[in-house]
Amino acid sequence: MARYTANKCRLCRREGMKLFLKGQRCFIDKCSLSRRDYPPGVHAHRRSKMTDYGLHLREKQKLKRIYGILERQFRLYFKEAERQKGNTGANLLVLLERRLDNAVLASGFAFSRNHARQLVNHGHFQVNGRRVDIVSYRVRPGDVITPCTKDKTVKMVKDAQELNKSQSVPDWLEVSGDSLSSKVLTLPRREHVPHPIQEQLVVEICSK
Ligand code: SF4
Repeated sequence: MARYTANKCRLCRREGMKLFLKGQRCFIDKCSLSRRDYPPGVHAHRRSKMTDYGLHLREKQKLKRIYGILERQFRLYFKEAERQKGNTGANLLVLLERRLDNAVLASGFAFSRNHARQLVNHGHFQVNGRRVDIVSYRVRPGDVITPCTKDKTVKMVKDAQELNKSQSVPDWLEVSGDSLSSKVLTLPRREHVPHPIQEQLVVEICSK
């Protein structure tokens, strides 16, 4: 599974907005973007005005970076969103929200998206009582996500929950702190997507 492994804060600085890729660090003064609010690279200050194509491209890159997806997989998501009924942009966002790593993060069971991804990948989570180690697994209404029973996993998930307790869980998930489980109540909708993405720009560039 290919993934971006270099400095994540550079991605936020490139996009000029917080992509929340580093967990709690993103909410405190240590956030690189709050200290260096300009693009990375030695010629950062010389850049000229962005073209229309650039604006579209940046929006697509933002979306890919938020969900930690590379181009090939993103194209597959886009094709599927196009095939579905309704608004392609909204469909695309919903497909991305339904990824298991995203559901684990949104439930507050991980410190960051990368952590959620690693936990799933290493088989620390079950869906409906069966181990699922595919981060792109698509959750459905009625699915119950639980950490496996290993003491180490339970402790890690509890620690993450404690750290994330100030963050709200989206309406499409119902988290039970006692049983350490998260139930998918409904499919997420466009308004559940917490990121300020202009999906129409993404659709326009991907449709070319
Ligand atoms: Fe982005 Fe988080 Fe790094 Fe801030 S700390 S620049 S929000 S990844």
